[in-house]
Amino acid sequence: MSTSDLDDRGIVTICPSCRQKNRLAYEHLHTASRCAKCKTALPAPSAPIEVPKAADFDRIVASSTIPVVVDFWAPWCGPCRMVAPELDKVAARQAGRFLVIKVNTDALAEIGDRFQIRSIPTMAVFNGGREVARTMGARPAADIETFIENAAGAVHGRG
Ligand SMILES: [Zn+2]
Repeated sequence: MSTSDLDDRGIVTICPSCRQKNRLAYEHLHTASRCAKCKTALPAPSAPIEVPKAADFDRIVASSTIPVVVDFWAPWCGPCRMVAPELDKVAARQAGRFLVIKVNTDALAEIGDRFQIRSIPTMAVFNGGREVARTMGARPAADIETFIENAAGAVHGRG
């Protein structure tokens, strides 16, 4: 379940106070945003966002100012269904720190091919436009969080 949607420049979210649509630009995901209409603080995306098009994937990965966790999945994959609720937990707990997106490798075969996704579920972390870590197989939320923290930490440590 996702309450957010994508457009060419960011994540479109509904203000919890006045229901106004606001865009959280990919370039500003590291900062808190306020509703353009009523100035209520907008919550960071707290659910995995399904990526509809390859171009959207490219924009998010290139522009996001927080690390992006990508779940490569397909509807026929049993372990993917097991990992989905775990990813929901991760997205909720890590809101504002990591952006969690989902790529259906049946619908976006081009992305799966480009990143040579051989088995699903595969989870990858992208930071600064580059893939920095990848892991395969279903796992509980706490293990996913350890994986993504290590991936992000490795990047910071190098800089
Ligand atoms: Zn508002």
